[in-house]
Amino acid sequence: ADPDVPALEGRGLVKHFGGVKAVDGIDISVAAGSVHGVIGPNGSGKSTTVACLTRFHKVDSGDVLICGEPAPDRPFAVAERGVTRVFQVPHLFEQQSVLDNVLAGMRGREKYGLPSALLRLPAYRRREAASRAEAAQLLAFAGLSGRSAQLAGSLSHGQKRLLEVVRAVASGPRVLILDEPATGLVPAEIDALARLCRAFRDHGLAVVLIEHNMDFVMRVCDRITVIDSGKVIACGGPEEVRADPAVLEAYLGR
Ligand code: ADP
Ligand code: MG
Repeated sequence: ADPDVPALEGRGLVKHFGGVKAVDGIDISVAAGSVHGVIGPNGSGKSTTVACLTRFHKVDSGDVLICGEPAPDRPFAVAERGVTRVFQVPHLFEQQSVLDNVLAGMRGREKYGLPSALLRLPAYRRREAASRAEAAQLLAFAGLSGRSAQLAGSLSHGQKRLLEVVRAVASGPRVLILDEPATGLVPAEIDALARLCRAFRDHGLAVVLIEHNMDFVMRVCDRITVIDSGKVIACGGPEEVRADPAVLEAYLGR
């Protein structure tokens, strides 16, 4: 992929709900190999922007591009193009082990299909061993190594949310979208989340991180888009954004 072409781009996105201009002309460009933060006050349009980018909402106007190509119209097709969003409420297989949950996340990209899986053909077995190694590595980043044999249902709230992120990463997306992932996590879990985001970025993939935990955003993001009342009010590196008067005004001036 051309590194100069954004992994995900929204141009002039508009989404109104009745009289509410939830998203009112938003431009956002997410580079491959970056963690891109989206911040803004409550109700400023962050989640709606993501819903437009993933085609969960039909936009009133504007364009979405994935690696420079127009995005398909339907959410599942967007996911197939490698843009994956992690939901706030974990959808785990609670009665399965933590490791099996991650392996299940990898199934989507399995090329060998059911017959070779059932027959356990050599290529399938090699692939399964590689998948297990990769799953173990991801669980280590998430600080969940010691828990891989445990039932997912027995994890704490924060660990479940981390596992949901690991599972999404394991499915092999090129853009991972996280909507307020740090909510309800303890500091050690937030550190684990930061490690996962950085590892993902260092593999040339993109993370879109919607967050209100400002410390976490400033620590992990390469670029930040700041939204207020459905409009972009600033975009830049963490230091730049932190010092921007319009941003201070949006956060403090109300
Ligand atoms: P954020 O994620 O930044 O907190 P949202 O994107 O959820 O903000 O919401 C932006 C605005 O759009 C808010 O005023 C919210 O009430 C409104 N909104 C969001 N979703 C809907 C919806 N499905 N129907 C009507 N209004 C909505
Ligand atoms: Mg939101």
